This record gives sequence, C-alpha cells and structure tokens, in this order.
Amino acid sequence: MTPAIARPDAVARARWAESAVLRDRPALAELVHAAADVRTRAYAPYSGFAVGAALRTISGRVYCGVNVENASYPVSCCAERSAVCAAISAGERQFEAIAIVTDAATPAAPCGLCRQTLCEFGLDLHVILASAAGAVWSAPLRDLLPAAFTPDSFEPRPGRTGPGSAADGDREGQPASVLTEQPRS
Ligand SMILES: [Zn+2]
Repeated sequence: MTPAIARPDAVARARWAESAVLRDRPALAELVHAAADVRTRAYAPYSGFAVGAALRTISGRVYCGVNVENASYPVSCCAERSAVCAAISAGERQFEAIAIVTDAATPAAPCGLCRQTLCEFGLDLHVILASAAGAVWSAPLRDLLPAAFTPDSFEPRPGRTGPGSAADGDREGQPASVLTEQPRS
C-alpha cells in the first residue's frame, strides 16, 4: 500500500510565511498552501515523488492538480499540466501565478514539458516553488524558459490578418512554414 502523503508541518509553514517570496503576500501564501493540500492526493506509486500544483487565474480562481503516474511510465502526467488541464476545462485562459510543492530538499522546478505547456498562456506567469521542508523560490516563467516557442512564434499568427488568416480561405491556422509556396522547377 502506498504510504499517505503528509502535509508540511507547522515548522515548514512558518518558514514559508517568513520567506521573502511569501511574506506579506497572503494570496501567494494561500496558493502554496493549496498546492501542498492537493499534493496529498498525488498518485505516484512508482517514483514516490508527490507533486501538488495550484494555478491562479487573473480573476483569482485557483485550479489544482497532482502528478498522476502510470504503469506505462511515459503516460504519466505532471501536476502542473494537470492543473492547466483543469483550468482550461473550466474555460480559463489567463493566469498570473502557479505554486508547485514537492518534498525535495531544494524546491523542484517544472520539467521542460510543463514549462512549454505553461508558456502557451503567457511568459509573465509567476512561478513559486516550495519544498515540504519550508524552502521557497520564485521566478517569472520567462526566466525558466528562455527563447521560448510560443503562439507568437507563428508568423503570421493564426487568426491574424494576412496569409493564413481566416480571410485566406481554407489555409487558416497553418504555420507560416506550411504556407510558403515552393518555386516550381
Ligand atoms: Zn512536468
């Protein structure tokens, strides 16, 4: 049987509260606590590495996710992407912060796949990493994913005017590289 995943103790929570990242920022502290709470529901029987994530929208709603592992390892889903899927499924598109809690000694950063998923919705996202031992670290997503490939990487972007836009018939939505006509030989 998988052992129960404990919430961070009072000592860890006091360290969070005293950290430069969370001190006098109750909304962010609440987000970290939400991630710590949902982490207890992680499904990580293979790695034993439970992760909780809490994603706050610009309207203040919070959507949570945990890592969900699978006997077929690559099928597993990270907590960050679980939270994004929950938020998008609820109709949300604009996010301001995500808190991620693990029990790593040093707060664990999102994997590359999750950084790419998050950057789809904006590189200004405030990423807060917290450990169950009480350490906290934060950075904007753009610092975690330099030279990111984003929706703005499409030129012209799907939906804009110009070649590939809705006004250009059935080629709508294709990246510019697909739209470039090759010279005839
Ligand atoms: Zn990930």
